[in-house]
Amino acid sequence: MPQPIDPLARLPEEWVEALAALGEPPYRAAQIFRWIHHRGVIDPEAMTNLPKALRLALHEAGLAPPLQLEREHRSADGARKLVARLNDGAAIETVLLPVSPSSAVTDADAAAVVDDDDEPKADGAHEATIRVTQCISTQVGCALGCVFCASGAAGLKRHLTAGEISAQVLLGRDLLEPNESLGNVVLMGMGEPLHNYDATARAIRLLTHPAGLGLSPRRITLSTVGLPDGLRRLGEDFGGQIGLAISLHSANNVTRSALMPVNRRHPVGELLEALRHYPAPPGRPITIEIALIRGQNDGLADARQLAKALRGLRVKINLIPMNPIDGSPFGPPASAQIRAFQDVLRDAGYLCFLRRRRGDDVAAACGQLVRRDVPG
Ligand code: SAH
Repeated sequence: MPQPIDPLARLPEEWVEALAALGEPPYRAAQIFRWIHHRGVIDPEAMTNLPKALRLALHEAGLAPPLQLEREHRSADGARKLVARLNDGAAIETVLLPVSPSSAVTDADAAAVVDDDDEPKADGAHEATIRVTQCISTQVGCALGCVFCASGAAGLKRHLTAGEISAQVLLGRDLLEPNESLGNVVLMGMGEPLHNYDATARAIRLLTHPAGLGLSPRRITLSTVGLPDGLRRLGEDFGGQIGLAISLHSANNVTRSALMPVNRRHPVGELLEALRHYPAPPGRPITIEIALIRGQNDGLADARQLAKALRGLRVKINLIPMNPIDGSPFGPPASAQIRAFQDVLRDAGYLCFLRRRRGDDVAAACGQLVRRDVPG
């Protein structure tokens, strides 16, 4: 027998089937899906237009909130790190990054990895609305062990379910200020999304379903070390509509393998080949992420090798001076070095941005997401 689908992660058509087994009419499916994924109400008891017996049945089927907000840390720069407790006691983090209109245009920081687009604004939003990019997690911990990243330091604890992934966005939306609206969602928090492909893909379907939050796939960017099989599936399943950010960090196999053990299994050439086949729409370049680490990957020869390796791909390059993490000897290069690195790539004709650090005073910046403040 196939595993029954977690009620929280059911799509409307799957609700129709599940409800038929309970003798309920199909129109209830849309009602329940809407409660959960449009209104953000997960406790069946609060679904007031459902009959009492059905609410009870949903409760017994295990429909319940999968996480609770435990803490909200506010950074001086406006980033808010949310620590959420899962039902098994594990904790994850998700970050809200308000994007000021000017920074979205002039800067390509973490909050603006998704390019400006011409999507209509959400429900009645007006000019003064501040767009918020939400960064969400896909795993508790991470199996990949990149040497500069805190999320993988203790290894993978477990995958998140599709319900747990999408519920982070419902939680984040509840915490928006009246003048804020959800702009983009980036899968750039803890974990490697393509290592948890099935749950991640289902979460994307939930978030983009028109009867739910209805997020445009173009507003979603998935950040990955670039597992080739996962890239292929993502391209096929979503027709290239999901934005890609690739944690390349170096185009040199020796350097990349030293920083990212996964490169020994899937070297640079295999990754770039997978990118050539990703069906990204013409107006949507793939973002190449380079965390610049002093003395490791920040030389001008590294920049030139990168420029050469990326030739022919439609990309834009984001340089992220490495955020310091506890217990790591690595750190960011001096700013003159960063500028020189950027100049090489710009002179070679690439769009290349320097990403501002956000939220690092509350350990919410890239690579800093772990439970520094709560016992495991
Ligand atoms: N596993 C995915 C998503 C999580 S990390 C991935 O690797 O892409 C999001 C981005 O932050 C990645 O580009 C990652 O390499 C980068 N990052 C990790 N640690 C960092 C650090 N200490 N400083 C700067 N960027 C870091």
